[in-house]
Amino acid sequence: MVLGGGMGGLLAARVLSDTYADVVIVDRDQLTGTTSARNGVPHGRHAHCLVARGHQILEELLSGVTKEMSDAGVTLGDFNGGIQWNFNGHRLASSDSGLLCVSSGRPVLEQHVRERVQALRGVRFLELHDIVGLATTPDNGQVTGVRIQRNETGSQPEVLLADLVVDITGRGSRMPAWLRELGYEAPPEDKIKVDLAYTTRHYRLKPDRFGSAIAINQAATPASPRGVFCYPLPDGETIELSLTGVLGDHPPTDHEGFLAYIKSLPLPFHYEYVKDAEPVDEPVRFKFPASVWRHYEQLTRFPDGLLVMGDAVCSFNPVYAQGMTVAGMAALTLRKHLQNPSGLNATAFFGEIAGQIAGPWQFSAIADLGYPGVEGERNDQINLVNQYIPKVLAAATQDPVVTDAFLRVAGLVADPMSLMSPPIAGRVGAVLRQFARMRAAAAASA
Ligand SMILES: Cc1cc2nc3c(=O)[nH]c(=O)nc-3n(C[C@H](O)[C@H](O)[C@H](O)COP(=O)(O)OP(=O)(O)OC[C@H]3O[C@@H](n4cnc5c(N)ncnc54)[C@H](O)[C@@H]3O)c2cc1C
Repeated sequence: MVLGGGMGGLLAARVLSDTYADVVIVDRDQLTGTTSARNGVPHGRHAHCLVARGHQILEELLSGVTKEMSDAGVTLGDFNGGIQWNFNGHRLASSDSGLLCVSSGRPVLEQHVRERVQALRGVRFLELHDIVGLATTPDNGQVTGVRIQRNETGSQPEVLLADLVVDITGRGSRMPAWLRELGYEAPPEDKIKVDLAYTTRHYRLKPDRFGSAIAINQAATPASPRGVFCYPLPDGETIELSLTGVLGDHPPTDHEGFLAYIKSLPLPFHYEYVKDAEPVDEPVRFKFPASVWRHYEQLTRFPDGLLVMGDAVCSFNPVYAQGMTVAGMAALTLRKHLQNPSGLNATAFFGEIAGQIAGPWQFSAIADLGYPGVEGERNDQINLVNQYIPKVLAAATQDPVVTDAFLRVAGLVADPMSLMSPPIAGRVGAVLRQFARMRAAAAASA
């Protein structure tokens, strides 16, 4: 039984269907047939990009889905050359990386994945049901199912039995509280408070304004903390534009304030795109107070028959676009652990996904700690990385090889340490020396 039919839940159901004859996805929303943002995933109204590694996982689990999406008009493109990346008011030099990404809005991506999962033999959807708790053996040692309640007045809770329950109910997962009720410890948490908000609006705008780019982004950095993600939607006439602001500098939701925020971005083109474009809705805001990592791998007691995955384990600062991909990595790990001849071992599963989460968590946590206003301890390594990354980004404006190295890390296909490797560090140094020579020449001629 899969609790939650978001991106993580769908991918988990996909791998569970290889082992279990009957896989039930329970969700409070209507999922099947839904093509727009839904209440259970309010963040689905805001910009989502499935980064390179996530795309690879999608294709591995649902072979051919890329072509299906592309045939349906979903914007896919090169994660490097297809996206116009701008940092600190400068465009990164680009080249094709051979890595694809999907930059097309969350509901449309989820719809394609859901339709494939729906077509799998043995997968059922139980929609419009709230999950209200776990069912267990009398000694609470084994989870035997879930307590659910149809979300209509007068309905009564009922128990659904399952051999295995996987909680993928997202960031708001109640698992820590349910574990405590059953006499277990809740997982210890790491938190990085970023006080982030996305505010998103859609405009009618022809995609030809984007040229060959599938998305044009100005990414937030400590030096330039306001950001924007913007891409055309598959209907061919609408763009999704999400503004991001950290540490309480939240993009406004009124027309004038929203436009003024766009105008305040380092580069003018997003403002130029939308200042005269027809908005198709009102700006909508989503607040994201903190990244949270729940360390299930540190628990010494855990009931049998239960796993937790996706945002329910770790919810990353969304500006780094890691969550769906890390949920996909956990689905691959689940597939591996389901094949274990001695049975599923929750501790081993949690240990392995913690190892996968650690890299992306460090990437985003270290970047967040680059903002002086973000609380948290900064050791020498964190300070070093936060001094080095702006240099990488500066070098990437001139050298597409550096851009490629950076985006491979951001796309979760390369280790962050690869940016420190001698070939990349050498290229970064070469560009910085070139900048220094240009500055010296300009000073001398002045
Ligand atoms: C603003 C924003 C932008 C983001 N952008 C990106 C991005 O660009 N790239 C990226 O990879 N990730 C991004 N993310 C992260 C990404 O959305 C999540 O990592 C991803 O949705 C995790 O999937 P999940 O299945 O774990 O949870 P969710 O997608 O949150 O799904 C949880 C599901 O559980 C259901 N549910 C919850 N509680 C109950 C209950 N009690 N009863 C019944 N059903 C329940 C919900 O209806 C929902 O369907 C972003 C997040 C935010 C907030």
